[in-house]
Amino acid sequence: MIDRRFDSKRRRPTRGTSSETPTKPSDRGLRASRGPQALHRRAHARIGVAALLLAGLSACSSLGSYKARGYQPPTTVSAKVTFGASALAQAQEVDYLQAANTEAALLRRAWLQLQLHRTQDALDSAARVIFTTPPPSAHVEAFARYVRAAAYRAQGLAERGRFDAQRARQLAVDPELQRRLRQLPTVAARPGAGGSNRAHAGAVAWSDLRIQRRGGWRPQPPNTGNLDPMQRPSRVTIHHSAMFFQSTATRAAATQISQIQREHMNNRGYGDIGYHFLIDPSGRIWEGRQLRWQGAHASGRNNIGNIGVCLLGNFVRERNGQGPTPNQIRSMEQLVVALMQRYRMTGDALFCHSDFKSTACPGPRMAPIVKQFARELRARRIAAAAEEDE
Ligand SMILES: [Zn+2]
Repeated sequence: MIDRRFDSKRRRPTRGTSSETPTKPSDRGLRASRGPQALHRRAHARIGVAALLLAGLSACSSLGSYKARGYQPPTTVSAKVTFGASALAQAQEVDYLQAANTEAALLRRAWLQLQLHRTQDALDSAARVIFTTPPPSAHVEAFARYVRAAAYRAQGLAERGRFDAQRARQLAVDPELQRRLRQLPTVAARPGAGGSNRAHAGAVAWSDLRIQRRGGWRPQPPNTGNLDPMQRPSRVTIHHSAMFFQSTATRAAATQISQIQREHMNNRGYGDIGYHFLIDPSGRIWEGRQLRWQGAHASGRNNIGNIGVCLLGNFVRERNGQGPTPNQIRSMEQLVVALMQRYRMTGDALFCHSDFKSTACPGPRMAPIVKQFARELRARRIAAAAEEDE
């Protein structure tokens, strides 16, 4: 039989994670030291004023250090501001920009990182501009997409940036940006006949994919009597764990995954952890339920032939949320492409959990990324390129 209770996603976001947001020790100290009412109201007023003064001072002093060197973080996005010459050494300007999180500062930082050949940093900075809620304006997105396309090109992975370049060309209105985009050579949609069988340069073959084996998170043995054999995989569904999780440590991820298994087996009555793969914030891919067993993640018959992939984290901003990390997104893309090549699927076979039922999963900060990736996969015809693969 099947898992009788299907993945209902009634997970409480704070469960098991409440320790991640403890009361600040300083708050506790303050409360413990409260004296008689009138006294402590006055004390509070004084602390309030002192805190304000301190905050003001520290803001001023950090601004002062910029000003002393004639530096102001950019506030607008334009070709002149984003691509302009640096008044300082580029590396120093990048350092100053680490503290600024506005779109303009992030874009400038991405561009400088690209000039410094820190291409992965440039990709990450540009991704922070693009994959945010609410989404950036078309004007800003065009700049960020251009930087990504150029960074992929600098990594020798021009094909990976093809969608970014295309999208930037659609959106760009700034004449200087348009000129730069014209100079960025167009990448062919598909490798020529008889050429490489890789769908795109960033693709990783199944056998090359690094996957942390199941034993790495010390699972409970599955209750195989409560598992169904997997039919030939025909689709992939993306989830988030709905629990805030930021650690990049291997052990923390292993612990988190075994907690999810416990929740699925002990509280929901599943035969094993519901997902086939999990991806932690550092981008490590972990084996969950073995692929020979049908998953329990998309409700009832939706689980048939459906590979469940869960990104650790809570991508719903309102509920103690966070964004997926660029490493997580990259690993998700590599895993999905490898699975699609292995099982001859196309971009039509990539789903969000929310495609099957009314749920926020995988969260408003992840779902658009999955949708866009599915569009890219359809354009690249992954399965068509996989013919010689096995
Ligand atoms: Zn889900």
